[in-house]
Amino acid sequence: MTAEPVIDTQESPAAAVVAPPTVRASLSPSRAADFKTCPLLYRFRSIDRLPERPTPEQARGTLVHAVLERLFDLPAAARTPQSAGDLVAPQWDRLVTEQPELAALFAEGDTAGLADFLRSAAALLEGYFAVEDPRRLEPAEREALISAVVDDELLIRGYLDRLDVAPDGALRVVDYKTGGAPREAFEARALFQLKFYALVLWRTRGVVPRVLRLLYLKDAEVCDYSPDADELLRFERTVVALWQAIEQATERQDFRPRPSRLCDWCSHQALCPSFGGTPPPFPATGPGDPLTDARSRPIAPGADE
Ligand code: SF4
Repeated sequence: MTAEPVIDTQESPAAAVVAPPTVRASLSPSRAADFKTCPLLYRFRSIDRLPERPTPEQARGTLVHAVLERLFDLPAAARTPQSAGDLVAPQWDRLVTEQPELAALFAEGDTAGLADFLRSAAALLEGYFAVEDPRRLEPAEREALISAVVDDELLIRGYLDRLDVAPDGALRVVDYKTGGAPREAFEARALFQLKFYALVLWRTRGVVPRVLRLLYLKDAEVCDYSPDADELLRFERTVVALWQAIEQATERQDFRPRPSRLCDWCSHQALCPSFGGTPPPFPATGPGDPLTDARSRPIAPGADE
């Protein structure tokens, strides 16, 4: 099993990913977690590519991530709660311009609904300031696309919220969680995502991240985890096995539903046999170019954002 760096940049995925010729497929932590959670959910999202209307929770997660990213553009001394609050409305305007479907979350003229929404984003930012002081941090990377090739032919990649590098070279991967869903329903998925990033960093930089950090903004809580190389090696095998299972399921066109508490956040219940629905015919063209999957976040509240 070999691995090699492919890209480590803040460019858009379409522009940035130049995969070596042996690569046959790519897998993001969100898509891998989908398959682990429910194979049919993976199919709906990655093969049928069914659209999902953004929910207010997802939009709030996207907004808070955008504000936290921009916050670090400011000089250290200016990264105050007030500055973060001042970024909320302009960042929302920017997001709506870039993703016009977000505007549909609020009926025309519903200024009170929008104001409530923006206030709820500001409240999550207060949770952030309760656990970190950004004036004391200089992140090495933010919203960075990282990737590596494992097993010679599988490109694994994802977006880090933030990477901190200590003077001694130690890496800390930081992920902001903004969802209001019960944490226990999503914690395993969140940790899976962080180990995925840790594996990419280990394979591309030769350093096992010292800390994988989840920042739960709603609860103003920090959850730290320290992986080791043996664990990441096992995790790599898990990811490759997962991909093989996805390939097998694709070949057999057999993606079964696996109901769980996460069904409450699934957009596709109407098409799911577990809820009396019927999936659409399996697409004849297959999943398409595996290297063109979309930006992975947000997908489900508390899971990917
Ligand atoms: S409703 Fe539940 S079982 Fe059905 S596809 Fe969605 S997550 Fe899977």
